[in-house]
Amino acid sequence: MADKPRMNGSSNVKEDRRVLLEVKNLVKYFPVRSGMFQRVTNWVKAVDDISFHIYEGETLGLVGESGCGKTTVGRTILHLVPATSGSVIFNDQDLSDLSASQLKEIRRDIQIIFQDPYSSLDPRMPVGESISEGLRIHTDKTAQERYDVVVEMLSRVGLRADHARRYPHEFSGGQRQRIGIARALSLRPKFIVCDEPVSALDVSIQAQVLNILRELQQDFGLTYLFIAHNLSVVEHFSDRVGVMYLGKMAELASRDALYENPLHPYTQALMSAIPVPDPTMTRQRIILEGDVPSPLNPPTGCRFHTRCPLAFDKCGQEEPPFKDYGREHYAACWLLETGEEGASKLTRERLAR
Ligand code: SF4
Repeated sequence: MADKPRMNGSSNVKEDRRVLLEVKNLVKYFPVRSGMFQRVTNWVKAVDDISFHIYEGETLGLVGESGCGKTTVGRTILHLVPATSGSVIFNDQDLSDLSASQLKEIRRDIQIIFQDPYSSLDPRMPVGESISEGLRIHTDKTAQERYDVVVEMLSRVGLRADHARRYPHEFSGGQRQRIGIARALSLRPKFIVCDEPVSALDVSIQAQVLNILRELQQDFGLTYLFIAHNLSVVEHFSDRVGVMYLGKMAELASRDALYENPLHPYTQALMSAIPVPDPTMTRQRIILEGDVPSPLNPPTGCRFHTRCPLAFDKCGQEEPPFKDYGREHYAACWLLETGEEGASKLTRERLAR
């Protein structure tokens, strides 16, 4: 365990690696309106004070059940939805301090690949125009230069130049996602939010798209935030992984540390549900009772306490700090206050009962 645990995963340089993106105390609440005057009567606490950083050139996976806030995190980073509070620092610039024109400039460097490639493409626009739209808005390239970029990007994702004239409905789901990748790449961004990029695809196509993303990352030095709910895909694709529960970050660590030695009871439950490829091996499944509570009225204390098999009195009263328990293995659980080794053993023993 570190001598002096840090309270979050933020600072500009860690372990000689450069931090490209830093999220500090990010909060995003959505208003709930009702009545004749559409007054705000409540708030959906989609993201509630989370902090983390992403190193240049790495892939940070973000996992959690539906509604945990992971997609909102990606969209808030991109300013597709404004943050309620907190900050996003990209390339040493706080995005909330930037003017509209400065933000427009920086958007070239931050792109997104959406989950549903069909609805993210304009059905009335040939895909070549969709891919070059960003170039038209953000650069002064000529039509010929834009076309050259489109052809190059289509080729990078395994499509042909003549595909540029076709419309989205003429492509399969996997091809449409390749077009989405080509569009995200056209401005040569530094950072891409991949929002469930393979969830809507057949398993056989998923591997192809992931391989393209991996190749492009190496060739262009890209940094990814990879949002997904499939733990096996995230394990395959990520360098580090964050686990979200009900708007909070429960745990964040290197891929190996998280999958081999999960510290948080929620992560342990998620890991226990991953199928084991060896038929001679079995894994003790941890079944969580009940549903995820509503983000309109999340539980006090630890948000997981209503479903946690290890919860004790303090869990419902005080929120556990999100701390570094050694080698950038962050987690938020009161049990961990006994130290990494002891806590891991303790949680495992209790869960095995
Ligand atoms: Fe479970 Fe308590 Fe740890 Fe929350 S703080 S994960 S309720 S043991």
